[in-house]
Amino acid sequence: MKWTEFAGWGRRVADWAQDYHLTVGDRPVRAQTRPGAVLNALPATPPETPEDMEQVFRDFEDIVMPGITHWQHPRFFAYFASNAAAPSVLAEFLVAAIAPQCMLWQTSPAATEMETRMMDWLRQALGLPDGFAGVIQDSASTATLAAVLTMRERALNWQGNIAGLPGQNPLRIYATSEVHTSIDRAIWISGIGQQNLVRIPIKGDWRGMDPEALEAAIKSDLAAGLTPAGLILCVGGTGVGATDPIAACLAVAKKYDLYTHVDAAWSGSAMICPEFRHYWAGIEDADSIVFNPHKWLGAQFDCSAHFLKNPDDLVKTLAISPEYLKTHGAEGIINYSEWSVPLGRRFRALKLWFLIRAYGLEGLRERLRNHVKWSVQLHDKLATHPQIEIVTKPMWSLFSFRYAPEGTADLDDLNIRLVNAINDDGRIYLTQTRVDGRIAIRFQAGQFETTEEDVMMTYDVITEIAGTLG
Ligand SMILES: *Cc1c(COP(=O)(O)O)cnc(C)c1O
Repeated sequence: MKWTEFAGWGRRVADWAQDYHLTVGDRPVRAQTRPGAVLNALPATPPETPEDMEQVFRDFEDIVMPGITHWQHPRFFAYFASNAAAPSVLAEFLVAAIAPQCMLWQTSPAATEMETRMMDWLRQALGLPDGFAGVIQDSASTATLAAVLTMRERALNWQGNIAGLPGQNPLRIYATSEVHTSIDRAIWISGIGQQNLVRIPIKGDWRGMDPEALEAAIKSDLAAGLTPAGLILCVGGTGVGATDPIAACLAVAKKYDLYTHVDAAWSGSAMICPEFRHYWAGIEDADSIVFNPHKWLGAQFDCSAHFLKNPDDLVKTLAISPEYLKTHGAEGIINYSEWSVPLGRRFRALKLWFLIRAYGLEGLRERLRNHVKWSVQLHDKLATHPQIEIVTKPMWSLFSFRYAPEGTADLDDLNIRLVNAINDDGRIYLTQTRVDGRIAIRFQAGQFETTEEDVMMTYDVITEIAGTLG
């Protein structure tokens, strides 16, 4: 394709994208395609000669689109939302066009400095105190990996990268069973080992860590000659929004000099609303915090905000400065690749700049507040249904329930069948989780174009389809 043809196609794509977003609500939310259908529709061998873009675009519509699950659908209530708000999509289009690599200051000064500024805007938006610095990572998983590597190096007096782990005293990391699987993987990849991820019991309605049990576990590890290295807390766990008591757990961690990381990947966005900040009271004492603007806040994937009280610990863990990467002659600059595992980095700050300016914090807060309000309304209505049992109460806009008609032998099986039937129907999309070993159906509202009507019709769809199951 010649660049002289690009603008025409760009307009076609922009028109298509606008139309898609305006009509996506008419499509079934979850893809209704069979496994292998898309693979079989794609030629087994690549073309030897150029093909017509018209045909490529037609095939995109005919082959790809039927196999898409619509995350931008207003009735996407599964997992967590992954919003691509219009201004952030435009910013991504521009980034795709200029395609800079943002590993060093000099490889893209504007991207680096905008990243610094946007992370500080987000810090203020979340009500975090002055002094937290930030970096945009590709995902919360990567931010957590970086934090766990920092825990490891700090506990080994910065010798792990050099000497490796053989012969070292086992390092111990503490978390509950409610944390995301990205924590387990960070523990594996860092070489710390699953058996050194110590699961602390939970208590209370928020399913949060018991700080006394945490202290007991640390003491017992010390007595056994092991090395407590880090604490990982969650605010808004993926299953049902589990939230650890931050202040009490951080106080224990401080007493034993542990490095602390807080995973608020989903719920962190809600902290732009002061009324939700009580959920993470004490957060200012954390060493590392991650949240995903690419979930609820509206920034197109990928965009994960990683705040650090003292970035030196992270940079000491991850920075490699070979000669060819040195930036000569510029003092006081940041090379963000020293703050993250990958070297190459996309220009992710631009979409935050577009997004925050286009909506203002007030516009973003209004959306999140509505999601929470409507979700609570739906919860209240479902709670009155005689055959529906609320399993976990709303944490922000997330709650879980199960269909429990009297005398059903296997409720897990019935609820799996219900979720599948709902998703085959296509008007809404829900997913299940396990709570205390038993299946529960999750509901979360968070898609940017969701309306109160979209949320409340969920009641009708659930009860109608539940009624058809034997
Ligand atoms: C989504 C989520 C993650 C993983 O986020 P990625 O950016 O996909 O790595 C981690 N923790 C929690 C609590 C999440 O909700």
